[in-house]
Amino acid sequence: MKIFVTGGAGFIGSHLVEELISDKVDVHVLDNLVTGTVQNLHPRAVFHHEDICSLNVRKIIYHEKPDIVFHLAAQADVERSIKEPNYDANVNINGTINILQACRDSKVKKIIFASTSAVYGNLQKDLISENDLSVPTSYYGLSKLTAELYIRLFYEVYHLPYTILRYGNVYGPRQKPKGEGGVVSVFLEQIRKGLPLNIHGDGKQTRDFVYVKDIVRANLAAIDKGNQQTINVSTSERTTIKSLIKIFSQIHTKKIETIYVQARKGDIKHSCLNNRKAYTLLNWEPKMNIQEALEETYKYYMKSNN
Ligand code: NAD
Repeated sequence: MKIFVTGGAGFIGSHLVEELISDKVDVHVLDNLVTGTVQNLHPRAVFHHEDICSLNVRKIIYHEKPDIVFHLAAQADVERSIKEPNYDANVNINGTINILQACRDSKVKKIIFASTSAVYGNLQKDLISENDLSVPTSYYGLSKLTAELYIRLFYEVYHLPYTILRYGNVYGPRQKPKGEGGVVSVFLEQIRKGLPLNIHGDGKQTRDFVYVKDIVRANLAAIDKGNQQTINVSTSERTTIKSLIKIFSQIHTKKIETIYVQARKGDIKHSCLNNRKAYTLLNWEPKMNIQEALEETYKYYMKSNN
């Protein structure tokens, strides 16, 4: 089997590639290294240093004819999407259309797309399900939602099979202190440097933090399950920023200082996704509890020297 991972040099993509690599699977990575790194590239994966918006990408996919394409390459920074909506839309919408056209032309069996809880916007609901309203409050959420619509229409028009996975706030080793679920990596970097942690707003905002290895398992399950479905991948648990810091204080032996700063523009107050559909259709549920997973992530950051 041949599998392409766009964004395979990034945080989540590199973990996915690691799990996919085996004697039976030929893994290719498509990445322009804008946020991904050479260090994240798996030595056994074939690397194509390309932009997903380029014509070359279409040629490569057409030539290689992969069975499955995991499409993770994206502009994944909410703040950048607010500052540069044009760039965000180009990568996340036009880039996705380019990948879809390539998949259609080379008769890919399935595209599995990395979407996000940001598509729901600031819904005032305890637990958000896939059928709830999507009203994005950032251009990032909007461009991801638009990409989803293109994927669904490519199925209607060209019968290109898909699964759309909407991730909660992903965290784990190799995450950079930028982008979507960055707060865990931001805090760990500050802890490593002995700096105080900046809390935006009152610290009572909640997120549905899901460990990267659980995200990878959901992606693998989607290879032959969840066809033509949009599925939340989350823990269905609310964690406040304050309680995150409390866990870090237990893991870290020294005292952690905190500073309260202004809330960020476009920041969502609460976000928690219902994961029942993932359980039913993908036979998936999160395995790592947050304490253990944060400890694993903490150890990685304390050892790293970037
Ligand atoms: P990341 O920035 O580490 O990975 C994105 C990768 O895509 C990088 O390697 C980058 O170099 C590559 N890329 C960006 N633009 C490209 C382009 N034009 N052409 C080719 N490659 C390009 O981010 P991540 O956190 O690993 O996110 C992976 C995917 O998961 C994204 O689609 C993101 O929207 C989605 N997602 C992430 C989270 C999260 O909490 N991290 C949550 C929900 C959804």
